Amino acid sequence: MFRSGAQRCLNCDAVLTGPVCESCELTPQAASLVLRRKLVLRTGLFLLGSLAFVAATYRYPPLDVDGMLVFCGVVFFVGLGLAIWVERGAIRGSQVAIRKRLFLALLPVPWLLAGLLVVNAKLDDAKVREHYTRVVGKFSMSAIVPTRRLVVVSWRAGRRFERVPVSQSEYAQFRVGQEVVVEIHPGLGIPWVAGVVPANNLSGPTAGDPSPARSQGWSPRRPRSDAP
Ligand SMILES: [Zn+2]
Repeated sequence: MFRSGAQRCLNCDAVLTGPVCESCELTPQAASLVLRRKLVLRTGLFLLGSLAFVAATYRYPPLDVDGMLVFCGVVFFVGLGLAIWVERGAIRGSQVAIRKRLFLALLPVPWLLAGLLVVNAKLDDAKVREHYTRVVGKFSMSAIVPTRRLVVVSWRAGRRFERVPVSQSEYAQFRVGQEVVVEIHPGLGIPWVAGVVPANNLSGPTAGDPSPARSQGWSPRRPRSDAP
């Protein structure tokens, strides 16, 4: 599709046959300028999408939030790297058609992930599931994006622990060794955390046999109101 050799317009990727692009009627200098201007806008959109994704993980925190954050982080840095590579190429007048397409392919990914989390939560009308378990560790990091996790004994087959995203108050409330109930919305395939409450606050299996973690059936619970 983009064979090397043919000189292409930086703006519209048409093959150049003269000093001015026949398709968009721009000189190579003007095409470079237009490309870089569009690139700034698209990079802004890409950054906004990444912020939207992070915001969605706070509003509807997926149980497997860390894996999703790592994936989105990789997409973010690859996308940013591609944008810089396109910009450098445009300044030097190199062929950037393929880099441009790679960047454009990545651009919607953070938006799609953010949308996926919102749809997963908004269309989820199943009742919250309560999982009785025990806190075995805590993890908090106050970087640009504050991260707070309660490490609990997992209730899922084949897993030892869950790193449950929690709000600031939940993080402060629980200590290692404490029995808790993790409330999980099933979602449309992506389980997300409704909240964590002390085990003795609920009438259910009594605290005292925290390991292995037990799961209780469906029961109505409030929607999450104090997302971090
Ligand atoms: Zn052109």
